Amino acid sequence: MQFHCSNCHKMFDAAEAPEACPRCHAEAGLEPHLPVALPMKLFGALLAGVIVSSGAAALIGLFAKSG
Ligand SMILES: [Zn+2]
Repeated sequence: MQFHCSNCHKMFDAAEAPEACPRCHAEAGLEPHLPVALPMKLFGALLAGVIVSSGAAALIGLFAKSG
């Protein structure tokens, strides 16, 4: 899990909630940093799906016109 130190504004990895920042040794202001990768992945998948489906619809329309 990643933590953010609001004292030195650095990120660091720790298995559990740390007692102090490993960089500046501040004991207060350590906040767990939640990963933002999953929503971004979902957004990317949604975007890719929209692009693929619109491309497929365009192709189907092209074939329908010519056929
Ligand atoms: Zn710190």
